[in-house]
Amino acid sequence: MSYETEDTRWAAWEARDRAADGAFFVAVRTTGVYCIASCAGRPLRKNVEFHDSREAARTAGFRACLRCKPDREAA
Ligand SMILES: [Zn+2]
Repeated sequence: MSYETEDTRWAAWEARDRAADGAFFVAVRTTGVYCIASCAGRPLRKNVEFHDSREAARTAGFRACLRCKPDREAA
């Protein structure tokens, strides 16, 4: 499974697919944080943007979510 498109990323995010953790990062515009796919947070899709890496999310001005800690190194 790859997560190249927004639809597959959104589907993985909705399913809290742990296999997708680290494959992409989900940034929530309303809260200013970014998350991994299995995070418990459930924002509206219109408030979400996807990034390919944590660096990209940080560069875009987001900070690591305190719940899912996306800044810890993935396996
Ligand atoms: Zn999170």
